[in-house]
Amino acid sequence: MATDAFIGLGSNLAEPSVQLAQALVGLAALPDTELVAQSPFYSSRPVGPQDQPDFINGAVWLRTTLSPLTLLDHLQGIEQAHGRERGRHWGPRTLDLDLLIYGNETLSGPRLNVPHPELPNRDFVLQPLLDLNPALTLPDGRNIADLRRGCPDNQLRKLHPVAQTPLPGE
Ligand code: ATP
Ligand code: CA
Ligand code: CA
Repeated sequence: MATDAFIGLGSNLAEPSVQLAQALVGLAALPDTELVAQSPFYSSRPVGPQDQPDFINGAVWLRTTLSPLTLLDHLQGIEQAHGRERGRHWGPRTLDLDLLIYGNETLSGPRLNVPHPELPNRDFVLQPLLDLNPALTLPDGRNIADLRRGCPDNQLRKLHPVAQTPLPGE
């Protein structure tokens, strides 16, 4: 049976909006997986080190029969194809793909924690998830909309869908 999974996308190097657009093509081509919907993109201030460019973030909704770890393998393969190099923690990167939510499952292991542990603290993750599904809840029953209201502000700006520039008035 297929599971609804949500992936967070982020980039702040090498034309971030192009990185995300190409990542969407890679996600749409995953085996045994359907891309249900993609969120708008947002710009955000970085978490952690501040001496790096702003990020562009978004999220996608997948329906997949891949296991969580196989899905993570594929996500890391797409990151590698985008020249991802693992530098300092929370440093700049060409492409970051995080498995945010995998159905109603709670997983903790050396390679994978789901739901993503930082999800409640990140407006640049919560807002795209809300755009995809305003009724979304975590396995523990917490509601994404409630978490969004209580989380820190990373100066999100919704980007124009084609030009990927800030929308007027936002
Ligand atoms: P953060 O996880 O706080 O967003 P990050 O994305 O910068 O930080 P990475 O360097 O991309 O962290 O990943 C470090 C490791 O996190 C990966 O090698 C992966 O095995 C592990 N990991 C654990 N849970 C997840 C998850 N839900 N999605 C993606 N990677 C995860
Ligand atoms: Ca991340
Ligand atoms: Ca990551």
